[in-house]
Amino acid sequence: MSNEDFQPFLRFKETPRTTRISQGDEWDVDIRRANKGKRNLLHTPPKNKGWLGNPHRITEEEDTKWDICLHCNEKHTRQEAVRLYEELLRAKLRFDSEFMVEFEKLYGKTLKCDCSRKQLCHGDAIIKILEEREKQSERGSPS
Ligand SMILES: [Zn+2]
Ligand SMILES: [Zn+2]
Repeated sequence: MSNEDFQPFLRFKETPRTTRISQGDEWDVDIRRANKGKRNLLHTPPKNKGWLGNPHRITEEEDTKWDICLHCNEKHTRQEAVRLYEELLRAKLRFDSEFMVEFEKLYGKTLKCDCSRKQLCHGDAIIKILEEREKQSERGSPS
């Protein structure tokens, strides 16, 4: 067997994990809301500024500027806001095939948000779902 036979496997092994960062400029995709929050997962075509932003704002934190989530008129802890985002994202992936195609391209990319690495972030929901889908495709879908 020649070395070439192993190359696709090696290339796969070297695929970087999807990660997120809060500082510096070495990133691929900005996952923050845009246009004062009006552009977010629900109101933005794929790849436009804000398309992965969380419509649910975190309100229950000391340094937050927001009293209430403008999307649902309720207050959210960080955990709630991320959980609600995960639900929205799963629903969107089921019903929006154009979005799904662009979403899957995020695998292995570095995502940019303002949350620190230690804070739970909607980027963690993105990474979780990407990794789930990657595992499913490795197993191969039954036809
Ligand atoms: Zn909300
Ligand atoms: Zn974040």
